Amino acid sequence: MPAQARYRINDHASFELAQGNIVEERTDAIVNAANSSLLGGGGVDGAIHRAAGPKLLTECRRIRDLRGPLPPGQAVSTPGGGLQARYVVHTVGPVWQGGKRNEPQILESCYCHCMEEAGRLRCSSISFPSISTGAFGYPVEAAAAIAVRTVVEHLHAPHSVVLARFVLFDPVTFSAYAEAAQKLGSAFPHIQVKAEAIP
Ligand code: ADP
Repeated sequence: MPAQARYRINDHASFELAQGNIVEERTDAIVNAANSSLLGGGGVDGAIHRAAGPKLLTECRRIRDLRGPLPPGQAVSTPGGGLQARYVVHTVGPVWQGGKRNEPQILESCYCHCMEEAGRLRCSSISFPSISTGAFGYPVEAAAAIAVRTVVEHLHAPHSVVLARFVLFDPVTFSAYAEAAQKLGSAFPHIQVKAEAIP
């Protein structure tokens, strides 16, 4: 059975860690770790486009033609096409260049803008991949700490999203997120984060 874990936040929201494939998610929205062109690519981007079908690319192209390339840290949404999720929120993570080119701030901005976009779309649930830790080379432990902290801050505040899932492709990435979740308590003494059993 693939690894999974659930954490309650102040008794009104939760986040989950799951090892798996994000295209199979049934949350209202899934997040795509896209590139600025919005025209598809490898990794999670390729998997989402293959599963969603050609309408997703048509919609991405329309947005790109209207607005130009999507800058790193920003997010836009499209319908989910053939996916179970109603929406895909596309965001562009930072390319790791050693950590002194605003990579942490850009990564945080990705998670913030995705949560804001999901709120605007009135989603109650959203699934994230591990943004930037594949082809973009962001070290996974550092990325996991930013991802978990930023999403928990949003879930803690009043928000339409009450469930965020991190869908992690491999056991090493899963472990890094599990470790980041364990360390949350010390980062946020004012937010109660409780590990919960999954039935
Ligand atoms: P980036 O370019 O932002 O680094 P990648 O797609 O290369 O994005 O990788 C981001 C993470 O997503 C990596 O941990 C990669 O293993 C993972 N990944 C790849 N395909 C999937 C998928 N279908 N579902 C979930 N995660 C995936």
